[in-house]
Amino acid sequence: MPEIPELEAMTQVLNRRAAGQTIVSAQVRIPLVVRRPAKDEFVETLTGNRLLTSRRHGKYMLLRLESGHVLAVHLMLTGRLQLAPPTEPMPKRTSWLLTLENDAELRYFDQKLDGKTYLVREDELSLIPRFDQMGPDVLAPELTFDVFRQRIRRYPGQIKRTLVNEAFVAGIGNAYADEILFEARVYPFNKTRDLSEEQLRAVYEAVGRVYAWAIPIVAERMGETIDEKVRDFLKVHRKGGEPCPNCGARITEVTPNKRITSYCRTCQPGGFATA
Ligand SMILES: [Zn+2]
Repeated sequence: MPEIPELEAMTQVLNRRAAGQTIVSAQVRIPLVVRRPAKDEFVETLTGNRLLTSRRHGKYMLLRLESGHVLAVHLMLTGRLQLAPPTEPMPKRTSWLLTLENDAELRYFDQKLDGKTYLVREDELSLIPRFDQMGPDVLAPELTFDVFRQRIRRYPGQIKRTLVNEAFVAGIGNAYADEILFEARVYPFNKTRDLSEEQLRAVYEAVGRVYAWAIPIVAERMGETIDEKVRDFLKVHRKGGEPCPNCGARITEVTPNKRITSYCRTCQPGGFATA
């Protein structure tokens, strides 16, 4: 699943190359992904509209439009956006596409078709299921350590599961949760209620450090190719069996609840890895 660094890189590219462009035509090829409104209204609202700047909120990309609407895109596991010339072959399962006045096409494709697109007015984002239940965005300035510490008290379960819970804070995915806990030297299966003040602070500070490190790397590596996912530079996530970059011990990889968790038993000591 694309996570914050990929979404931030995509936002930068869209703002550089698509913002200000009028949408000459819109097409829905696979309506399943367009959750709201119906296909005809989706096409009608977008055609002749103009893209303004985009932003990210949690795992949503929010593409603002001149009419006051927002095209809200959640890529889920396999959704991707692509900006391509019309001559470039259409990826499999292209669900919708917008032709821009500069001739580029903004395409959404999705192998599993489990992503979601909504077109709503800017003041109606609450019509998107669970949008209002999201906690503060993980990179929002209002998420101070005090706010983080107060919110985490409501989630006494495992720290990794809490970090990826959008109701706690929005935007942390499975891969970067591993990186954050490695950076903080905290065992992923510790209960949040068992963490010391010092450990909570370490997790909070690791959040900022990990994204500040990863976002420019991903932006540079993706370049203009926004449908790619760059992960090979990560330190622990999916590096099971490889040496820990900190201590050299082998990185452990377990799959509780069908989601991979990678960590170093030496740097992140804790109990047995049970879900
Ligand atoms: Zn280690």
